[in-house]
Amino acid sequence: MNTRTPLIAGNWKLYKTSPQAVKTAQQLVELVADTVEVDIMIAPVFTALDPVSKVVENSRVALGAQNLYWEKEGAYTGEISADMLVSAGCQYVIIGHSERRQYFGETDETVNKKIRAAIDAELIPVFCVGETEVERESGQTFSVLDKQVKKGLEGYFAKDLGTLVIAYEPVWAIGTGKTATKEQAQEAHEYIRSLIDRNFDKTLAQSVRILYGGSVKPANVSELMAMPDIDGALVGGASLEAESFSNIVKFK
Ligand code: PEP
Repeated sequence: MNTRTPLIAGNWKLYKTSPQAVKTAQQLVELVADTVEVDIMIAPVFTALDPVSKVVENSRVALGAQNLYWEKEGAYTGEISADMLVSAGCQYVIIGHSERRQYFGETDETVNKKIRAAIDAELIPVFCVGETEVERESGQTFSVLDKQVKKGLEGYFAKDLGTLVIAYEPVWAIGTGKTATKEQAQEAHEYIRSLIDRNFDKTLAQSVRILYGGSVKPANVSELMAMPDIDGALVGGASLEAESFSNIVKFK
């Protein structure tokens, strides 16, 4: 039995205008009001952060962003800084999501800088890693995870990473309806925890929360959460409706 508090996080991607996000957040706040022993986070689009922050204030639901830029301010058109996210009410930020790696040129090096910016601003980074289908089929899952974790966290000390959350998201399972089996997910999570032990220390390896992401639904969350190294879920599609997301939050 570990002492890690589960985290169920919803990534709303490029969905929902501010009024729509506010409405879903209001429904969610009510549906999860009685939950205990689980942390809950939703990550709407940037423009909805401020209005949603007012809805989730003093509730069971925390606010996260889907990305950030590592500079504090400057001539970086279209970007947003960690302090700006904090001032909009965020406690968490998703970093290195595979969609950002795939479509927006995110690399292990940019991920590394973004994690630093998040930690400096006291935002909790949700650092995403995971292999593609081709990489899995050619037996490279562990080496991909090795590289992403090592480079993403290069230059850090265990003491910097006390709040770090890692999300294992096999790219082939995101938005595809193909969930990793609980055994596949557990194997990857156990491996990631061993990487944290090897690159940092045992204490951090035991305390770091590792979420699984990839077509998590109310129907499959319980079996995933029953695995010893799975500490929560990063949920895309099934987080968009308050009812289904709240059923994931109440996974027991
Ligand atoms: C995600 O976007 O992080 C994700 C896991 O999406 P989905 O749940 O839709 O597969």
